[in-house]
Amino acid sequence: MNILSVRGVSRTFHTPTQGSTVALQATDLDVAENDFVTILGPSGCGKSTLLRIVAGLDEPSGGQVLLDGKPVTAPGADRGMVFQSYTLFPWLTVLDNVCFGLRERGMARGQQIELAQGFLAKVGLQKFAKHFPKQLSGGMQQRTALARALANQPRMLLMDEPFGALDHQTRELMQELLLGIWESERKTVLFVTHDIDEAIFMGSRVVVMSARPGRIKSDLAVPFEHPRH
Ligand code: ADP
Ligand code: ADP
Repeated sequence: MNILSVRGVSRTFHTPTQGSTVALQATDLDVAENDFVTILGPSGCGKSTLLRIVAGLDEPSGGQVLLDGKPVTAPGADRGMVFQSYTLFPWLTVLDNVCFGLRERGMARGQQIELAQGFLAKVGLQKFAKHFPKQLSGGMQQRTALARALANQPRMLLMDEPFGALDHQTRELMQELLLGIWESERKTVLFVTHDIDEAIFMGSRVVVMSARPGRIKSDLAVPFEHPRH
């Protein structure tokens, strides 16, 4: 069953200095439940624009995004997001970062903490609940961001180069961690990367975008075996 449908979505940016830029042109994409879709393409091909539109952080110039058959108009707890640059709140502890969305929803404090600690354990950070983001390595900050995204129990995870700023070894560890979580939590993932190896390793499906003029070039199902397992 499709959880996400991107229907003829376009996005043109207008800036005084650069004029019009077509970032996306008539893009169609259907994502089935439990798919791990990687979106691969060179820098500037429109990957982030597509993800931001699915997230509800940007509006298409044309077309429509449907999540569970309903049009997406704004960000929501049904889509958990993880970006390349750590987007943790620096003034909150790791635990309170993970609790953030739960508190917004008015969940009782005890329940927030129980749920958050469960997700911190899943990403191996149960001992770091009281730390502040700046006391953690980049990999640990991304694990916190992942725990925060998961805590809201979203229908989909939207990830934009989430491991792009990490060193090689940490990146491989994070890839394994995410695949483990994807399998155990049965999440649907949309994962943007410009790294071919990462796209093929992570994706059950690899969608390739071409640079000009921002559209999907091919869509491959990857026979799913993890070469490093
Ligand atoms: P990618 O994620 O593949 O690197 P982006 O989606 O960030 O690509 O960008 C696609 C194109 O749209 C690029 O030419 C980029 O410069 C342009 N673009 C993206 N965001 C904006 C914006 N806010 N204003 C103007 N142009 C933008
Ligand atoms: P990525 O390559 O990861 O997509 P970028 O560095 O292209 O990220 O973009 C980072 C931010 O800058 C995004 O919010 C994007 O919308 C904005 N942006 C990208 N290109 C332009 C542009 N040409 N003019 C204005 N804003 C832009």
